[in-house]
Amino acid sequence: MLEVTEYGIEIRDLVKIFPLKPGSQDGVHALDGVDLRVNPGELFVILGPSGCGKSTLLRCVAGLEEPESGEILLGRRTVYSAARGESVPAQHRQIGMVFQNFALYPHMSVAENVGFGLKTRRVALPEVRQRVAEALRLVDMQELADRRPRQLSGGQQQRVALARAIAGKPEVLLFDEPLSNLDPLLRNAVRTDLKQLIMALRITSLFVTHDQEEAMIMGDRLAVMQKGRVEQIGTPEEVYRRPQTIFVAAFTGRPVTNLIEGVVDLYRGELLLVPIESRAQTLRLPPDLAEFHGQRITVHVRPEQVRIAQGEVSNVTSLRIENVLPEGGHSFVHFHLGGPYKPLVVRTDQTSVQKEEIGRSLSVTLDGGTVYSPETGRLIGAFGG
Ligand code: ADP
Ligand code: MG
Repeated sequence: MLEVTEYGIEIRDLVKIFPLKPGSQDGVHALDGVDLRVNPGELFVILGPSGCGKSTLLRCVAGLEEPESGEILLGRRTVYSAARGESVPAQHRQIGMVFQNFALYPHMSVAENVGFGLKTRRVALPEVRQRVAEALRLVDMQELADRRPRQLSGGQQQRVALARAIAGKPEVLLFDEPLSNLDPLLRNAVRTDLKQLIMALRITSLFVTHDQEEAMIMGDRLAVMQKGRVEQIGTPEEVYRRPQTIFVAAFTGRPVTNLIEGVVDLYRGELLLVPIESRAQTLRLPPDLAEFHGQRITVHVRPEQVRIAQGEVSNVTSLRIENVLPEGGHSFVHFHLGGPYKPLVVRTDQTSVQKEEIGRSLSVTLDGGTVYSPETGRLIGAFGG
């Protein structure tokens, strides 16, 4: 039976368990019920820390790994269904993969590398030539077709790896941390380049990374994974502005973010957060959070969502400057929140707070943020913009 999905990729309740020992019942739940729907032509990013199951997910989609249960549909085809006992072999799934190490053959030319997979699949030689030329043209590498991989820059090698992946005319492209081996400067350049290439190709793509900045830049949408589960799916903006869990808030911090657990109290008409770690140092909360009076909550505020109110020092919210870390056009100012070292980090423009001000106290306002239940780690409220 042919099932039809309107999505480019649809993954339903996918479970993959690696046994701890051969034949053992216990195992690592590398994928613990993953659901994903990727639109046709979309560049969809999977973001998560090392070991959360990103590569396993790609390998299951590619047919290189057999899941325990669930379903995978690519375009109009079911390629895996546990319930129906179906699993299309990897070579028939019409998938192109790009890996971290590019995996180019050093003794082959660029053109030979791109055509190698086609030859092993016994595609007729004239067609191999035509498809190689077309793939190299798409990544703008036709001029370098006769070079060896070592005669290319990292970015050019990346393009060859992409050309090889698209030469097979895939329905879906899978990228497993393809930029991790490049040095940071090159990485930034290749990242934008690769995004433009993928968007021009209009091939449904799953792009895996552990780098939140890369995920935000590359993805039309992204899924944040932790421990084999999807924590949140959304546009980069949605995920950054409205993290659905404490984990997502922390993981998308650039470079850090503020998560403060405390009890909400009312003092002289002002709503305060009394941090668990240091009851002496309270933070003034916006009145929107009155519904949480008396409750224990975790407040999340991005460094750019805290405003320093120069001059008007109020006793309740005044915090001591612990450190000022200039970073190009802006600075991170660390305020003492009492207790063990865990400052309130505030992003300011370069000139507003100087290093000489360390030790001084300034008053701060939380302009916007999100609120979580410390027990479940789930979003329960938001304030400001
Ligand atoms: P990621 O790509 O996000 O770093 P992986 O998908 O490689 O994570 O791994 C997810 C989990 O599954 C990890 O705990 C890893 O140790 C485990 N795992 C992956 N591959 C195997 C394997 N072949 N055998 C046993 N455990 C594995
Ligand atoms: Mg991996």
